[in-house]
Amino acid sequence: MHEMSYLMRMISMAAEVAEKNGAKKVTKIVVDVGKTSGVMPYYMYKYYPEASKGTVLEGAELECLEIPVKAFCEECNKEYYPVRENRYLCPHCGGRKARIIEGRDVALRNVVIED
Ligand SMILES: [Zn+2]
Repeated sequence: MHEMSYLMRMISMAAEVAEKNGAKKVTKIVVDVGKTSGVMPYYMYKYYPEASKGTVLEGAELECLEIPVKAFCEECNKEYYPVRENRYLCPHCGGRKARIIEGRDVALRNVVIED
């Protein structure tokens, strides 16, 4: 399951931030989880205690923020949030030539540290 590998990556990134700041402890990390990333926050929460065990993040809180999908229409150059009811088309011009610019990735948004 890829949640575990994403978790390991987020944890090592957060540990690096903590180290750079000379922090002894991390109290919380906030992770952006894109709606189309294929990652389920449920599993992130489930595997987090095991993934963080023995690291500087052990005992720190995890918060996952679900990031909605945002698209950029290449026909009218506007950004929009695709919805199923509109068949994911651009609401400004009805165009279908769009690319996803947000909501695809899993990223570390914030690390709360204690020094
Ligand atoms: Zn458009």
